[in-house]
Amino acid sequence: MLTGRFPSAPSSDRVRPDVAVVGAGPIGLAIAWRCAARGLRVAVHDPAPGSGASSVAAGMLSPVAEAYFGERQLTALLVASAERWPAFAAELTEATGVGIGYRTEGTLMVGLTGDDLAEARRLWAYQQGLGLPVTPLRPSELRDREPALAPRVRGGALAPTDHQVDPRLLVPALRTAAQRAGVVLVPQPVRQLSDLDAGVTVVAAGCGAAALTGLPVRPVKGQILRLRAPDGLAPGFRHVIRGYADGEHVYLVPRDDGEVVLGATVEERSDTTVTAGAVQRLLRAGVDLLPELAEYDLVEAVAGLRPGTPDNAPILGPLPDRPDVLAATGHHRHGIVLTPITADLIADLVLGGGPDPLLTPLRADRFGPTGAVVGGPEPTMEGDPWS
Ligand SMILES: Cc1cc2nc3c(=O)[nH]c(=O)nc-3n(C[C@H](O)[C@H](O)[C@H](O)COP(=O)(O)OP(=O)(O)OC[C@H]3O[C@@H](n4cnc5c(N)ncnc54)[C@H](O)[C@@H]3O)c2cc1C
Repeated sequence: MLTGRFPSAPSSDRVRPDVAVVGAGPIGLAIAWRCAARGLRVAVHDPAPGSGASSVAAGMLSPVAEAYFGERQLTALLVASAERWPAFAAELTEATGVGIGYRTEGTLMVGLTGDDLAEARRLWAYQQGLGLPVTPLRPSELRDREPALAPRVRGGALAPTDHQVDPRLLVPALRTAAQRAGVVLVPQPVRQLSDLDAGVTVVAAGCGAAALTGLPVRPVKGQILRLRAPDGLAPGFRHVIRGYADGEHVYLVPRDDGEVVLGATVEERSDTTVTAGAVQRLLRAGVDLLPELAEYDLVEAVAGLRPGTPDNAPILGPLPDRPDVLAATGHHRHGIVLTPITADLIADLVLGGGPDPLLTPLRADRFGPTGAVVGGPEPTMEGDPWS
């Protein structure tokens, strides 16, 4: 698609970058890092790097627990990206010398009541049907793994390959790695794409992509809490816990430094206010699953805006009317887990490689004027192992 855009060696022009990236969230920074590592001159424009959705995100790398009905192709992409995470985390830590909170204990999915468990079991059966690693656990096995779970919890399952990273460590690390690779940060907003002068422009501005490109990216609000174990102790549980609690769906993510992330609402709203009702629901569900949370400090209640798309999948590829502008946005609930694969696929495109089949269902022109996917409710993904 972009074959021939770049000469085999980067331009010798010192002023004009080969690549201008709009947005210094995880997606933009990882793309910039990958492009710079391949010898391209890269500028990243953002007045407030890391201030988007990633600044509140939990950092679950959960392709299995988040494999939902009707999203098979998206699940395939999430799995493919999660498989790149171990090497990506190691490379980033090596490049920067700092940890990013990457942890591999796995995810426990639990149900509090009989109704909750029945709902969860339907999803686990679907996930197992896709060939994903989900191991049902007896209540005793569940408690052996996490003694702090409430006695009321009726049952659960383990997703051993669903891991976690701390986005508040990840994004600064990506910024350091990108700058060490030669990326220049321009601390200003981009008002319109015509203000940029570069060989290729990559729009990785999260929710800000809609105003710049007209693509159907909408904010999806998420309220989320941070708690802290008392006395400087680590949380009393090791796995990421995703629970159904009296119909409320929550997750609990333990960090090494004693923090626990408890989230999150999913609301079709564009404000970032925190409401008492949301805090109450999250805390009730969290404490019902893990009673010790009642003794923790509540240290933060915030809301962020996920960049959502009509089919919940990201938009990766050239704009229909601007082949020199690549979209890398719309990562919705999955921008952290999708960071490695997005960076690799977009860097390949920038360098003029033939489009990867993975990109076919993610193209920017797949939405009609109403925002519906042209040709069906879900994009088709070549190479989808579950098609
Ligand atoms: C409550 C919550 C929990 C989440 N949990 C998870 C999770 O557990 N796992 C997971 O994978 N994902 C999670 N996500 C989703 C994840 O945070 C996003 O998908 C991800 O941050 C998207 O990355 P991004 O770089 O595209 O956008 P963002 O992180 O939103 O960053 C966009 C950047 O672009 C900049 N920008 C915007 N407009 C312009 C402009 N005009 N000019 C210059 N710069 C601009 C902004 O300043 C910002 O720095 C969560 C999100 C929320 C809200």
